[in-house]
Amino acid sequence: MVPVAFIDRARKGLGSPGVAALNTGSRRMMSHRLTAVEEFPSMDSMRDRAREIRLYSLAHLDELLARFTDEVEAQGGHVFFAADGEEAIGYIRRLAERENVGRIVKSKSMVTEEIHLNDALEAGEFEVVETDLGEFIIQLSGDTPSHIIAPVMHKTRQDVGRLFADKLDVEYTDDPQELNGIARSHLRQIFLDADMGISGCNVAIAESGTVSLVTNEGNGRLTTTAPRVHVAIMGMERIVPTLGDAAVILEVLARSATGQKLSVYTSLITGPRRPEEPDGPDEFHVVILDNGRSRVLGGDTAEILACIRCGACLNVCPVYREAGGHAYGFTYSGPIGAVLVPSLLGLEDWHDLPYASSLCGACLDACPVRIDLPELLLRLRRDAVAQGYPPPGLERVIGWYAGLATRPALWRTALRAAGLGSKVLGRKGWISSLPGKGAAWTDHRDLPRPATRPFHARWKERNGGT
Ligand code: SF4
Repeated sequence: MVPVAFIDRARKGLGSPGVAALNTGSRRMMSHRLTAVEEFPSMDSMRDRAREIRLYSLAHLDELLARFTDEVEAQGGHVFFAADGEEAIGYIRRLAERENVGRIVKSKSMVTEEIHLNDALEAGEFEVVETDLGEFIIQLSGDTPSHIIAPVMHKTRQDVGRLFADKLDVEYTDDPQELNGIARSHLRQIFLDADMGISGCNVAIAESGTVSLVTNEGNGRLTTTAPRVHVAIMGMERIVPTLGDAAVILEVLARSATGQKLSVYTSLITGPRRPEEPDGPDEFHVVILDNGRSRVLGGDTAEILACIRCGACLNVCPVYREAGGHAYGFTYSGPIGAVLVPSLLGLEDWHDLPYASSLCGACLDACPVRIDLPELLLRLRRDAVAQGYPPPGLERVIGWYAGLATRPALWRTALRAAGLGSKVLGRKGWISSLPGKGAAWTDHRDLPRPATRPFHARWKERNGGT
């Protein structure tokens, strides 16, 4: 595992055309969400209900997963519990070998990105084709997702036009409808020839053993019905008790993610094809992945498992919008990534992610299940310091501060010097250029000018010299 260097990655993204495109896209999604929320007076109470459902589900995970398993098996499906990515990959690979699978189609799934499923299957000589338009573009360009629901938000339509012309041997176009048409006709035969479909799972329903899937393209339905084997893979926390609970989650999910009342396609999949049904797979398997989630459930950041992966916290985060999704170095980016990745994978390699936030609280306001992301980030910062990973430079800065603050004469001299310096550098109350390390701030924004006279001098004067 490569240690994270958020700052270095963020520097690469700052001001780049990709991050500018991502910034525009996430602002657009944010405004769609705000409109959808305004139009829905019950959104606040719906959010409270969604939070209750998610917290109840986390507190009763063992019994809900057991019920879900019984129901899936009763419908003729199979459930496999994978402790980690290796076990999940091993199960899917063995199944593919047993079923003589050649071609695999996939619909969008962040969990499969988390365990690098595609690489592992392709190394096993299976052909794996992503069918979500965004993921298809990512696969074609050898890139990684930059947003949890809009994986190619960092690419422009011109980028996609050039990519298709280069890789699919078609005429260049940057017309979105034509680009969609090209992808659709390229993928159609691939769906028909596929032996296995792999999907994610937005919400699993314990009472019926149902896997629900939302997409806006219809590729999810083709992935789960056309091939003869369907494998759904889900994080173990995706479960809710009832269909009614799932309906609440899917409603707040669509409004918070894309500003829609409901996603265009909502599929509820319960078991393999029945004899009287014309379509559907002969085999239906659900892989339930732990991969660190049990540990998180017993810890201080357990609430993060209530996340429904809507992406709203990314769209409102000023750090994410400026640094871009790739700065986070893993599948999950933005505030959810800054909490989930160190929680799942440990702070040793990911201790700088909890600092990728200004703690402005916009993510808490946006989150449909009211996860207190700023509080979780603070807990992770506390744990990082306790484990011996203080933020870079903090000890030095505190040392300087303590050296000044414990010597009154030196403190007053330093304040006078700062006041003089701010007179020289500041214009109309703002400093727009600082030397040395201070330039890291003023290269991108102005700094408010410190008071030219310290508080205690003004206090003394106001109180007649006492
Ligand atoms: S933490 Fe909340 S806002 Fe962020 S992706 Fe999860 S559910 Fe959405």
